[in-house]
Parts: sequence; structure tokens; C-alpha cells
Amino acid sequence: MELACLDLEGVLVPEIWIKFAEKTGIDALKDTTRDIPDYDVLMRQRLRILEENNLGLNEIQEVIATLEPLDGAVDFINWLRERFQVIILSDTFYEFSQPLMRQLGFPTLLCHRLETDDNGRVINYHLRQKDPKRQSVLALKTLYYRIIAAGDSYNDTTMLGEADAGILFHAPQNVIDEFPQFPAAHNFAELKQAFIKASNRDLSL
Ligand SMILES: [Mg+2]
Repeated sequence: MELACLDLEGVLVPEIWIKFAEKTGIDALKDTTRDIPDYDVLMRQRLRILEENNLGLNEIQEVIATLEPLDGAVDFINWLRERFQVIILSDTFYEFSQPLMRQLGFPTLLCHRLETDDNGRVINYHLRQKDPKRQSVLALKTLYYRIIAAGDSYNDTTMLGEADAGILFHAPQNVIDEFPQFPAAHNFAELKQAFIKASNRDLSL
């Protein structure tokens, strides 16, 4: 049996914090781990900015509901789910991703969670575990599934390495150069071909 593990942001949907910053016009929310490498410092800053702008979970989800999956993503995941069991492994938060996951038909998603108080204020965040994408692949392998994984960035590379086959999708050139062991797909047509090639079954388009 084969299972497909997919990253979410940059693969099926846009980078949610960046899009959220654009939609709300709050430039300070555009910072990513490239600007602030310490993830906890970055998240504390994000939560503080949300609070300063009176953005609780309802307001956040209203904004995110106006975002759409990437062009072709809905067709791609439907195609993939006809051929593989699909699990999305993401470093996003359930509460943040929910409006976009609705548009994808709520595929199985393993990610992190935000903590809110009774008034809907986001007061904390909880990471699921350390190195969560790789740990998920490891766990699924104990069920004797053959895993094919695809992702776009550094936080996916341990997952790609642990999988039986790893595919880079929409990856920046520096990631492609640094990880030449993974084939790189640049659009959904190429990604479908990469999954067919990585499969040990005789799949067709
Ligand atoms: Mg990504």
C-alpha cells in the first residue's frame, strides 16, 4: 500500500501568514523564519500583533476565508486521492488553515494548534511535536505503508528524506541545489508525473 504525504503551504495553498498580512495590511505580520529565525520569538510577535489589532480567531478566519487554494490545487488533490491515501503534514495551525481546508474538502491534516480564550483571543500556540513531518512519516512506516512525500521548503526536507520517495514542488532554486537527491516538480502536471514515477504501481494520469 502506498500513502502520499503532502506539505500544505506553498504546495496546495499560499503562505497563510503572508497572505493574511497582505489582506489586513499589517506589514509586521509578513515576517517569517527568514527574518526571525527563532520560531518562538516570531510566534510571540505574531500573537502580540494580532492582539494589538484586535484580531481574534473569528476575525482571522473571516480574512482567511477570502483566500483560495493555489491554481490547480483542488484538481490535483482530487487526482491524488483517487490514487493514494493522502495525509497533509503541515507546520500551520488548525484554526488558521480551516477556511482553506474547507475548500480542499477537509483532507486529513496533521499540524499544530492555537489556544484561544473565551473571547476568541489567541493567547498561545502549541506545536504538535518536534520534527513533526519526519516523525509522522516514521510512524506511518510502522504500519508498513510505502510513503511518497512532496514539499516546497527546508521544513519538508527531513520528511522527504524519511519517505521512500521525496519530491520537491515549487521549491526555490537554493533548496533544489542543496537537495539534488530529490526530483523537482515545478507545476501540478509535473507533480502528477513525479508521483506516478515514484509509485511502485502502474498508475496512469
Ligand atoms: Mg511549505
